[in-house]
Amino acid sequence: MSKQGEKRCSFCDRTESEVNILFTGIKGNICDTCTENAHQLLQDTMGDSKPKKNNKEELKKHKVYKPREMKEFLDQYVIGQDAAKKIISVAIYNHYKRLLHPIHDDVEIEKSNIIMVGETGTGKTLLAKSIAKLLQVPFAIVDATVFTEAGYVGEDVESILSRLLQSCNYDVAAAEHGIVYIDEIDKLGRKGDNPSITRDVSGEGVQQAMLKLLEGSEVLVPPQGGRKHPEQKMVKVNTQNILFICGGAFEGVDKMIARRVQTSAIGYNAIKSTKELDRANLLQYVNAQDLRTFGLIPELLGRLPIVTYLNPLDKPALKRILTEPKNALIKQYKKLFEYEGIQLHVEEDALEYMVDKAIEYKLGGRGLRAICEMILTDAMFDLPSQKEKEEFTLTLAYAKQMLEHSKLDYLKAA
Ligand code: ADP
Repeated sequence: MSKQGEKRCSFCDRTESEVNILFTGIKGNICDTCTENAHQLLQDTMGDSKPKKNNKEELKKHKVYKPREMKEFLDQYVIGQDAAKKIISVAIYNHYKRLLHPIHDDVEIEKSNIIMVGETGTGKTLLAKSIAKLLQVPFAIVDATVFTEAGYVGEDVESILSRLLQSCNYDVAAAEHGIVYIDEIDKLGRKGDNPSITRDVSGEGVQQAMLKLLEGSEVLVPPQGGRKHPEQKMVKVNTQNILFICGGAFEGVDKMIARRVQTSAIGYNAIKSTKELDRANLLQYVNAQDLRTFGLIPELLGRLPIVTYLNPLDKPALKRILTEPKNALIKQYKKLFEYEGIQLHVEEDALEYMVDKAIEYKLGGRGLRAICEMILTDAMFDLPSQKEKEEFTLTLAYAKQMLEHSKLDYLKAA
């Protein structure tokens, strides 16, 4: 029974004797249960119970690498693609300068979001991933094709940020300096196969929705991703310092570049200069105008001011990918064999053969792993049971024999 005149919690109306602790204030009181509930609510809505860290302080913990240092780091993981590496290194360096220096004389440095154009399997994701590794910031990879305009089946674009939050255990302050790689951005401009009268199938709605993420604003993010529900607690994320790197194959863009270069070439000097163009690699001349023809809206391209390209991988590049990067495939297999006490040797012509197959089957850098697996699976299966074996040499004959019995044909790119 409550005593008359007893103090009550101003939130749940329970009396002092009905609760464990009652905190009393000047004009109101709060009990322990209501305090706990409020705390929980705060945690859910802020995604972080800790006080929000100061952005600048958070930033100063990061070492700022000079562009040259960044490129040297990337060289350890990514073969070739020098132009993209240089452009990305400078863009990221400028991104940090922008974050660390307050605005003077109204000169506001724009965000350096990047768009990379290059065939699939040429190292776009690898570049973005390696940069995140160097900078030690949260990193998320998302596929642009899973998003739909609000109200349709699919994910809201805000769930791009849910992935980033998930990658750093919901540390909002850390996520706010993260990097997001959005793959297949070219597919957003695609016209759908089955035109719908109710839906803009070209993905323009998604592009519109992406604008506010890219330019930097406060976005309410569903922590678990997917669709926003009215009952779901949202986390507020400021995207101002999040770097967005987009990638796409933009198939056929080389033809557009060729056309543009030709039509813009007027006059004797221009004709002379188009003759000097490196026709084999037109991608180096790519610009935002070419990407517009893929259906990307100008506002979106305006928020991705840095355009760069990745070269198709030729035979020497693929061979280097097998052996040179810090975690090159052959190095990984050598380690795996070493754990069994076996030394793996790979003969030069076996390497060449693997590269030839990757080219023949149009599998690019990504296919090398599948080819290695097919060739080495039997050896990895048998050798651990053969105690006396200390060495294994991968010869051309062995590689050929293994691939002939494999399912390589089914991997062939369409
Ligand atoms: P993309 O994003 O361009 O489709 P990825 O970066 O995912 O291609 O490349 C797939 C795999 O191929 C990588 O994980 C890597 O093993 C290999 N690879 C592709 N390009 C390169 C490269 N330039 N240097 C080193 N490895 C590469």
